[in-house]
Amino acid sequence: MSDAFWQRLVPVLPRVAEHFGTPFHIYDVQGVRDTAEGVNQAFRGLDFREYFAVKAQPNPRILRILADHGFGFDCSSIAELVAARAAGAVGDDISFTSNNTSSEELVAALAADAIITVDDETVVDKLVAMRARPRSVCFRVHPGRSASVQNMHLGGAESSKFGIRIDRLHGVVAKARQLGANTYGLHVMLGSHLKTPDSFLRNLDLLLDTALRLRDETGVRIDFVNLGGGIGIPYRLEEQEFDLAGLAAGVRDRVTTFARDHAWHLRVLFESGRYVTGPHGVLVTRVLNRMTKWREIVGVDCGMNGLIRPGMYPDAYHHVSVLDGEGRELETVDVVGSMCENNDKLAIQRVLPRTVEGDLLLVHDTGAHALSQTYTYGGRLRPQELLLHPDGDVERIRRAETVEDYFATLRCDADRLTTAVVLR
Ligand SMILES: *Cc1c(COP(=O)(O)O)cnc(C)c1O
Repeated sequence: MSDAFWQRLVPVLPRVAEHFGTPFHIYDVQGVRDTAEGVNQAFRGLDFREYFAVKAQPNPRILRILADHGFGFDCSSIAELVAARAAGAVGDDISFTSNNTSSEELVAALAADAIITVDDETVVDKLVAMRARPRSVCFRVHPGRSASVQNMHLGGAESSKFGIRIDRLHGVVAKARQLGANTYGLHVMLGSHLKTPDSFLRNLDLLLDTALRLRDETGVRIDFVNLGGGIGIPYRLEEQEFDLAGLAAGVRDRVTTFARDHAWHLRVLFESGRYVTGPHGVLVTRVLNRMTKWREIVGVDCGMNGLIRPGMYPDAYHHVSVLDGEGRELETVDVVGSMCENNDKLAIQRVLPRTVEGDLLLVHDTGAHALSQTYTYGGRLRPQELLLHPDGDVERIRRAETVEDYFATLRCDADRLTTAVVLR
């Protein structure tokens, strides 16, 4: 969370909480715009486009802001295609990067005229069977054990479900030629929340080598490289901002050298999610109960139904602030929600100002992979989403779920199959 967002939010927060009720995620329009501009500025001079990863923040209101800055959208499901189209995206504004892809999804991506990122040979087989003519086909590569990355959320070579094995790429590309796409690309994404540019640049080197090999072996000329998402943000106060300028300089250097040496122009795509919106959201939740168990517990009105990262990834951290907590005595607490799961914790053994019932807590950096990742186990419903406009107005852009929503799927068409199997 930036100081500027803090300055904009904190003075109005009590009134916002009073008016809309808690809990809520609130997103800072100015911050999102500033970061979007910063990304475009960093890569200026290159043939570059950012395709925002919709799964990080699928609210079409936010997507529309990003579209204003020229961003395309990276979608991985039919619902995300719907969200991107609701934000006005068409054709090569959309890159469809799915995995374990169904024919139905491919039909939807083709209908949107999206760039199709092939995660497996079976996708090419399905496209061929459909006699599809995608505008653009991109191949997601998994380089295997040789590629060292800083984290392995997406699986090392032995365990990953993502991407085409690099030693099989040639065959998949050769087969895909019959699709007759106008342009071809190479994609790689191995990790998320990476802290430095080096693994992106190593991956780019790999893609450039691979492009040369593919030209020689298959005659397919690669038009663009997609370096995926994965740029990290400083969740902890002591962490540094990601060196975006360093990343852009490294990319520029490699792509210009490649152009000079091989007379070969390459377009560069990224699919960042977290970096673009992550720091520009805050989960605001109210203290319901102060409890003494074997440790001190602060029970708040939102848990994994609003933010699951700390419960799901052992190393995930979100900073927590107590509104008007300055000057209070400090204590070590767990901040918990109401779900019947002991991992339903927003913070574990955290030093916080001493809280009382009714206090407002700010859980920082919930602009990406927050609400979109939640679930509603035990009937714990998802909170609302608000937008903080640069003029200080606050607008509801998604309502909280209701008990009616929870039971909505019980209303379904009557359908009973008679199998004539008599159970005795
Ligand atoms: C999740 C994902 C992204 C976005 O990742 P961030 O870490 O949010 O930048 C981009 N591309 C693909 C294929 C993804 O699965």
